[in-house]
Amino acid sequence: MNARSHREDGSLPDQIGLTANIRTLNPAHVNQSSTTDSSCLSCAIVLGERPTLGGTIVETGGFHAHQDIAYPIPGLVIVASKRHIKALDELTGDEAAEFMALVHAIRVQQRQVLGIEHVYYFYNEDTTHHFHLWMVPRYGWMSRFGRSVESLRPVLLHARDHMNSPEELAEVTRCAAALRDAMSRS
Ligand SMILES: [Zn+2]
Repeated sequence: MNARSHREDGSLPDQIGLTANIRTLNPAHVNQSSTTDSSCLSCAIVLGERPTLGGTIVETGGFHAHQDIAYPIPGLVIVASKRHIKALDELTGDEAAEFMALVHAIRVQQRQVLGIEHVYYFYNEDTTHHFHLWMVPRYGWMSRFGRSVESLRPVLLHARDHMNSPEELAEVTRCAAALRDAMSRS
């Protein structure tokens, strides 16, 4: 089924732009019992109860994008659903289209504003958090940890443990703010 056919307001996914800021989920598609969970870190971030470096990068009706809270890699963006769900197939058709348009828009700005050439995307459904995609920029220093998926964990741990000086955290904050500014103009 074409994603377009899911959009009840008749707009195309690429027209979401970020007018989706004001778009609300169709209640008919939302399982209210799974909206939030007080023990979930992603819920806390989405609700603004846990600050992230640089603050909210962009927010749509169904999703919230922010710098990762644990791993200070500049331009690392987490795109989390606002609903407390675990699996991609729990997204409605409208949410799936909104999600892809948002990830695409963020990727465009990662390249244009931060000069990020490659991004690794990661998400696992057996998590204590809820649905959130990692958009991990690939920088030259990461090559010492290998390539592809096996390098991801050591890269993240290296950043957490050895790239957390005030100057480095300031750079992470600057990049998140630059992405937010760019997204607000797009
Ligand atoms: Zn949650």
